[in-house]
Amino acid sequence: MENVIEFFKNLPPKQCASCGQAIEEQHECYGNECDSCNKV
Ligand SMILES: [Zn+2]
Repeated sequence: MENVIEFFKNLPPKQCASCGQAIEEQHECYGNECDSCNKV
């Protein structure tokens, strides 16, 4: 289904739940927070 591809292309980047900064999903342990917020 091409519609599925379009759906994922339109997904916004993951954002930090604390500061709203875009998160690169490199590690599953990031959860909903960016690297900076995750260190605290
Ligand atoms: Zn953050």
